[in-house]
Amino acid sequence: MKNSEPFSLVIEKFINWCEIDENTVFLSWSDTDLHVFVENFNQLLNEENVDFIKKYADLQKYIMSFLKTENNNQISLSAAAEKFSLPTDNFEAHRAADDSKICEKLFQKTFEENKFSNYIRNTQEPLFYSRLVFKPYIITDLKNAKIDKKMLCYTCPVCKEKTIFEGKFNKKLKAFFEIKQCEKCKNKIVATFRFKQNFDNVKLQKRIKKYIKKPAE
Ligand SMILES: [Zn+2]
Repeated sequence: MKNSEPFSLVIEKFINWCEIDENTVFLSWSDTDLHVFVENFNQLLNEENVDFIKKYADLQKYIMSFLKTENNNQISLSAAAEKFSLPTDNFEAHRAADDSKICEKLFQKTFEENKFSNYIRNTQEPLFYSRLVFKPYIITDLKNAKIDKKMLCYTCPVCKEKTIFEGKFNKKLKAFFEIKQCEKCKNKIVATFRFKQNFDNVKLQKRIKKYIKKPAE
């Protein structure tokens, strides 16, 4: 590391090598590399955004659109190469040069101009970088303004009677729950709510079921 060139110089060389024009789209396998770029630009160049990248596409997302994976799980580059029957024997995974050659071959094999155009992001959009670096988190305070009280209404799973939120939720790990007796059918109900703050919305995970007391051990 001692004898290596400073980041600013390496980046300058890289930008020159790229010969960027208005049609240049930067690709990476998952957006992790773009995150690293943002971090380096912040810390080493004191620049907020990676200005030389005007258009960006996540190749992993694009390639995944051709594949069905379990739970939509992200796939590794070598696994993707295998699915498209690309020989990888001479390639060493996670070596930058070899990884980019595999990306190139995958891209050539799957390129459909119209489809691909949907995956190109304009990094000049005002919210592009805030969205990129945003980390979703679990809301742990029910008073959070993002939680619409209507989200806390639920229906009795036994008799389907509508129950109204009464604000007596208990906190459990990163969720909220209450145990309540249904006024109509008298069954006890346990309702669990978990709120996740994404960049654009709050996502609710809700579980409503009949309460069954665990037998004492
Ligand atoms: Zn009921």
